[in-house]
Amino acid sequence: MPSTPPIRIQPHCSVCDAITSTVDLTGEEGRWRLVVAGLSRSDSPGTFITDERAARVTAAAEIPYDEDRFWSAGLDEDCGYCIRCPAFYCKDHWKNGWCPRGHLMSLSFW
Ligand SMILES: [Zn+2]
Ligand SMILES: [Zn+2]
Repeated sequence: MPSTPPIRIQPHCSVCDAITSTVDLTGEEGRWRLVVAGLSRSDSPGTFITDERAARVTAAAEIPYDEDRFWSAGLDEDCGYCIRCPAFYCKDHWKNGWCPRGHLMSLSFW
């Protein structure tokens, strides 16, 4: 059962410091709702996730952000994270799916 306060993850772009994405995890009627306003999605109503994934999202919210925790929470690329830099970039700096240092993102929403 959800018992912790709402969790928000907001990474900043390593280049321009803009917020790359917003991840909100809230407990709602005994379930966990995950809302990701990332590079590929916006205004999503969110999805209900399992306790197990909620625990992984909670772990990913710990600062400093860590690539392994983001990856296991399934948030890495949607949040603008380049696993090879490793750093976050906003949509402006992921130019056509390439990070500023020339790494190609595997998601294809460009
Ligand atoms: Zn940027
Ligand atoms: Zn990169």
